[in-house]
Amino acid sequence: MNVLVINCGSSSLKYQLINSDSEEVLAKGLCERIGIDGRLVYQKAGCDKEITEAPMPTHKEAIQMVLDALVNEKTGAIASLAEVNAVGHRIVHGGEKFASSAVITDEMLAAVAECNDLAPLHNPANLIGINACKDLMPNVPMVAVFDTAFHQTMPAKAYLYGLPYEYYEKYKVRRYGFHGTSHSFVSKHTAEFLGMDINNSKIIVCHLGNGASISAVKDGKCVDTSMGLTPLEGLVMGTRSGDIDPAIMEFIAKKENLDIAGVMNVLNKKSGVFGLSKELSSDFRDLESAMNEGNEFAGNAIEVFAYRVAKYVGAYVAALNGVDAIAFTAGIGENAGLVRTKVCEYLGYLGIALDEEANAKRGEDMVISTPDSKVKVAVIPTNEELAICRETVALV
Ligand code: AMP
Repeated sequence: MNVLVINCGSSSLKYQLINSDSEEVLAKGLCERIGIDGRLVYQKAGCDKEITEAPMPTHKEAIQMVLDALVNEKTGAIASLAEVNAVGHRIVHGGEKFASSAVITDEMLAAVAECNDLAPLHNPANLIGINACKDLMPNVPMVAVFDTAFHQTMPAKAYLYGLPYEYYEKYKVRRYGFHGTSHSFVSKHTAEFLGMDINNSKIIVCHLGNGASISAVKDGKCVDTSMGLTPLEGLVMGTRSGDIDPAIMEFIAKKENLDIAGVMNVLNKKSGVFGLSKELSSDFRDLESAMNEGNEFAGNAIEVFAYRVAKYVGAYVAALNGVDAIAFTAGIGENAGLVRTKVCEYLGYLGIALDEEANAKRGEDMVISTPDSKVKVAVIPTNEELAICRETVALV
């Protein structure tokens, strides 16, 4: 069957049409500047990208344009919309209500809306995309796949913060974790690729992209992860600070005359390797070349990033009481061999040894540890769209 995978943001929408039998991507692209002016990027498999500028006042017009492109006589990937058999939607926050993916019904959408204040920027946009698809394809089954669901197996000792317990009771303030679809996909695939039994395994997944998080996965279930109530916690990221002393917020607010929204803006958008590199870039390609030209701030940013990853790996070895495999994934994890080398240099105490020749390759599943390394280290490219497609097929 063909599954349309939709990842809807407030002013953008990414899509892929996937044949679930062959797991082939038939077409993919994105809509940008929804509600501003509108731009559709469409690419049929094996063809060049087509870019169309056209008004998209709302997500409904954007999705209509995607559907029109998919069935276009000349460049369409399918003959008619009857060939879209299901739609899989990414939803950022499922709170404690969703520990797995769910078929979309009116009742479940009401439950998703109750999680909106946990992700006020993302969940409402996800819901707008779902409603637009329901209007345009009323008879096509749809499934919601949550970023938080995979992490719902964490025990209370991992998800509770050292805060007054009533905040958990009243407001559900706790660790939720994000990138769950990726952590789930990569942990399963790591076990498969390394020939391990997932039901008897200890895997640490390092999802290092512009947003970055780590998870500890025991016997296929998440037992801890580095992002928290929001994606701000944990690793140093592209522009997010990750863990800091919370008292810094008051200190900076006073010094810089900022209100809470101003401080949050700094922590989310002006920090991380971007802030550390004196706003040179949040992109590791830029940071690496600047470092090679002697830019000490870019060099520091990379060091801070790698050190934080290594500290979390150490923490999760403790949480798992050991580790069989460490997997690197996402933009930095898959491409930045330098970062993997730096992280693994801290992990010599685990008996980890890196095969530098393998580590220099890119773009495929690969083992980058030496045969005698005590812990296997692998690069496993993530594929969140395929994971959403598989979940959708399983439920419809
Ligand atoms: P993601 O959020 O997973 O799409 O990852 C995006 C990030 O991956 C970018 O901001 C870069 O920092 C990083 N990245 C992508 N390609 C490369 C590369 N060839 N070398 C180093 N870093 C890369």
